[in-house]
Amino acid sequence: MSDCIFCRIVRGEIPCSKVYEDEEILAFKDIHPLAPVHLLIIPKRHIASLATATPEDSPLLGRMLELAPRLAVQAGSTDGFRSIVNTGNVGGQEVHHLHIHVLGGDKPLPVMLKY
Ligand code: 5GP
Ligand code: ZN
Repeated sequence: MSDCIFCRIVRGEIPCSKVYEDEEILAFKDIHPLAPVHLLIIPKRHIASLATATPEDSPLLGRMLELAPRLAVQAGSTDGFRSIVNTGNVGGQEVHHLHIHVLGGDKPLPVMLKY
């Protein structure tokens, strides 16, 4: 996906504040943080959304979820966090490359429908 913004970040064409990387996964700070901690965990391979993920993607999705608590603590959210995956039009997904939002900080987040 040559024009996908997150694929461009993966390729290093757009800079990001990286917090984690391995062969399959990249995590970086959201450019418009909505909480003191706001990270995005993405697969390096283009998957448009949870709606287009396949059973073969399950181990990767599991690893992305498993990373969330580790990265939250590392970023300073030591007493929990909120993880959100906006999917498609109804979910308000703006970037069509699957990502997990990890939101946190040092006090409880406000209740919200969309991160
Ligand atoms: P969505 O609404 O698709 O779930 O969320 C997309 C998120 O990507 C938004 O929170 C937005 O701030 C973030 N975002 C969009 N473009 C960039 C970018 O170029 N760099 C970073 N770090 N975050 C981005
Ligand atoms: Zn992409």
